[in-house]
Amino acid sequence: MPKVRKQDIIQKGPLTKLAFFPSPLPTTPQIMESMLYLDGSELSSYFKGRFEALYASCEELRPLMDVVALAGLGQHSAKNKYPGKNKKFKIICLPDSATLDGITQHTGWNTEAHGIYPANKNSVFIWNPEKNKSAEHMSEMFGSTMHELAHFVMQEIFNNSCRPFKQDDEPARRKMDLAIQRARDGIPNMRSYATFFEEGGELYKQFFHAYESIASIFNSGSVYEKNALFPEELIAKIPEIIGTIGTMGRRWFRTSEGPRELYEFFLHYVNPHIIAYLKDHHAERYLAADPSSYDAFLASLPSLPNHLAQF
Ligand SMILES: [Zn+2]
Repeated sequence: MPKVRKQDIIQKGPLTKLAFFPSPLPTTPQIMESMLYLDGSELSSYFKGRFEALYASCEELRPLMDVVALAGLGQHSAKNKYPGKNKKFKIICLPDSATLDGITQHTGWNTEAHGIYPANKNSVFIWNPEKNKSAEHMSEMFGSTMHELAHFVMQEIFNNSCRPFKQDDEPARRKMDLAIQRARDGIPNMRSYATFFEEGGELYKQFFHAYESIASIFNSGSVYEKNALFPEELIAKIPEIIGTIGTMGRRWFRTSEGPRELYEFFLHYVNPHIIAYLKDHHAERYLAADPSSYDAFLASLPSLPNHLAQF
């Protein structure tokens, strides 16, 4: 199978070009399309407008997407790690993992079925392992894009091997441990929650997908077990599942016994850190989004459930 070089895909241009020195400032979804490089026209028509729809419907993911957009403009902290002039972070989507030269072969992350964020690259890479063009597979590919971007954002914010807390933040680590435990204990409930709906119906399929997605982390044995990748993989499941099944994903996280604590940790701990980062990096100078506008969203959140608040 012929190998595709990253450079060949980039030369084809992004999904959407940003106007030079845009005024007013570009929106986060516009920037995300401008950092998205796709190999294949089906992918282009599928991805067009997807970031915009997610950004509009899921306000809890906006700060995370703003960080991605800042990086797409080359305004991220990690940019100085990379050689060369062009510091803009990129999202690269491929129809097939085997076509990408120099990436998949050199990583041990083979449990990531649909994408990778290699820490030594200024990009994430996404692919469709089954070359399947069904709507469900395309949605999973979009979810995988959000998953890999979440890894990048966690690394950018917390600088702790993609974990969603700083290395010395012991209370946060304990809260996350508890959320992990709840997610693991909740797996049977997640399964029965899905089967509560009519088999084969839309909600059944969506909630069963969400259940399998979380369960796969705990069931996949060797790699996850040995390296204890739970915190970074579980936190990435929130943007992934919401990216894949849309607002039903939020409903699932809010109402499922088990992953709800994970979602709460994201809302109450991760998001405030992301918003502080956006303020520190003066996101309002580059993006249409204003990070201080998120304060009202943070203030409107209901307080934490007791077992998470007690630390
Ligand atoms: Zn991952």
